[in-house]
Amino acid sequence: MKIFPPGSTIGILGGGQLGRMTALATARLGYHCHIYCTDAGEPAVEVAKAATIAPFDDAMALAQFAAAVDVITLEWENVPVKTLEILAKLKPLCPKPAIMAVAQDRLQEKTFARQCGIGTAEFMAVNNAAELTAALKVIKPPAILKSNRLGYDGKGQVRILPDMDPAAAFAAMGSAQGILEGLVDFSCEVSVIVARRADGMMATYPVTRNIHKNGILAESHVPADIDPAIAEEARELALNLAEKLGLVGLLAVELFVLKSPNAAGQRVLLNEIAPRPHNSGHWTMDACACSQFEQFVRAVCGLPLGATEPHSQVVMHNLLGHDIDRWSDLLAQPHAALHLYGKAEAREGRKMGHVNFLKKGT
Ligand code: AMP
Repeated sequence: MKIFPPGSTIGILGGGQLGRMTALATARLGYHCHIYCTDAGEPAVEVAKAATIAPFDDAMALAQFAAAVDVITLEWENVPVKTLEILAKLKPLCPKPAIMAVAQDRLQEKTFARQCGIGTAEFMAVNNAAELTAALKVIKPPAILKSNRLGYDGKGQVRILPDMDPAAAFAAMGSAQGILEGLVDFSCEVSVIVARRADGMMATYPVTRNIHKNGILAESHVPADIDPAIAEEARELALNLAEKLGLVGLLAVELFVLKSPNAAGQRVLLNEIAPRPHNSGHWTMDACACSQFEQFVRAVCGLPLGATEPHSQVVMHNLLGHDIDRWSDLLAQPHAALHLYGKAEAREGRKMGHVNFLKKGT
């Protein structure tokens, strides 16, 4: 396993808040960080040592970026696979382009999970209204139609009710390639974050219970307060996926906890994966000695992985849009750790920051 020691330069593709918090973690460990993104106003740029501002298909800019860094990783899941393939020929890059190809495509993601013996919602590919009409005879409504690619935070998703017109539903999804999913009757949603180094060493954070509102993460709770056997099943599922993917870096696995076991005896189903730091791991910044961002850097650079057990109970609240106006009240609370992303405009639903409410004890 190649080790990149402190003092090395880590190149990060994407300039969002995940890149910003990763850049801060790299600096803490004495690394330099070089961000590649398309807009100089993105949150990571102002906290990194260097930035390349260019489109992801600019071969010259990619070559210059690769020449300036020692190792490359990413914080934005939808970096084009072609871009990753170009960069992987120039410098060590993780996660591998093939892993990103799976994570960028819901159909591939769920197919891969099933191949690993992992349960998912029922699903079918639907590429036009006629296919949707046919699929709805197999996966009966209520169901969810999702765009196969580039959907996040509930965008590109349509809930299909029994009397809905398939043509209107397909048009509302706003994409040419979709996936129809059966509605999962879950008791709660949880996630697991696993770090994996190139030599196969892995570490998981405790299972997090997540509450979504309008398809966007609103709160994360640790401890998750779920049956320990279900938590263990979730942890093993995440380890299994990270290993089968051959992941190097961080993998967030989002899961549905079923109200009762399915025919295969599974109590958790995979919703989606993200091979990068994840919003549902932000609680680690204040409740663990080693945050998910530091763990990410450690995994990418081949360093010893950090401890993952929390020293406090914690609830993370996302600050969306004008929630950020509460910053002064939040700062006045003694056990609230506030993180703001430096975004200029508080648009509705936009992730502006988050706050970790800590409570002593685990
Ligand atoms: P996603 O973008 O796929 O993570 O979906 C956003 C949110 O929609 C999830 O966190 C769930 O709350 C809900 N959701 C997505 N897919 C399903 C499903 N098949 N059954 C029930 N709820 C779902």
